[in-house]
Amino acid sequence: MPSTTIPARTGNYVSLQAGQRLKLTNPHGNQVIDFWAFVFNSNTTSDIPTSFVRSAEAAPTPSPDNVNPYPFQTGIQYLSASRTRSILSKLIPSAESQDVLYTNKSLSLFTLVEDTTSGIHDTLFGCCDRFRYYNLGTGDYEHGSCAENMHVALRKAAAAGVFAPGSISEEWTPDPLNVFMNVPVVTGLDRQAGGGRIRCEPPVSKAGEYIVLRAEVGCVAVMSACPNDAIKEVNGGHCTEVEYEVLS
Ligand SMILES: [Zn+2]
Repeated sequence: MPSTTIPARTGNYVSLQAGQRLKLTNPHGNQVIDFWAFVFNSNTTSDIPTSFVRSAEAAPTPSPDNVNPYPFQTGIQYLSASRTRSILSKLIPSAESQDVLYTNKSLSLFTLVEDTTSGIHDTLFGCCDRFRYYNLGTGDYEHGSCAENMHVALRKAAAAGVFAPGSISEEWTPDPLNVFMNVPVVTGLDRQAGGGRIRCEPPVSKAGEYIVLRAEVGCVAVMSACPNDAIKEVNGGHCTEVEYEVLS
């Protein structure tokens, strides 16, 4: 499959089979890609429980307001930045150690098999959304965002029959893997010295650098060329296109 360009400020999705590799390229070096993935058939071929509640606990009584406790259809799993940090005991996955990215139910979802950058990415920043831009002073809720790009891409995937429409609430967005994003963490416990604080700096990746993720299970990957120009450091001052390519 030839590489596909995602125009600046927009998103797209791609379906991946287990074993396929996804290359994410930063053509100009400055652009962050917010990245998510969803597993839609995680309970059709295994006996993984669907609920977080053990079977010994009484199930809640369904009511019109409490039919499905999830913001997504039961059985769907998603790439979890927080679960990945917890299992790896790292803030940033590394290709040097072939780190795995996990779902919210600790399923191995991707392996980071190659990274031509210096390894600077981010798992801490929540993706931008219309509410965040309002919070940053845009004056209205009309700024494009990674959250919107993700949901528009998922609408396209649903329309193409990849999964059932309505499986994922458009009021919910998982925390992404922020590929190429540069969020230094001030280490140490000394709060007076800034310990524990994070800040956003321009990406340090160079034009043409890329990462390659190998899918460990079939999934739908979603990518957004982050449109953040309200915090100018995020994309180094200007938003550009990005590229992806599926390697068999
Ligand atoms: Zn964004």
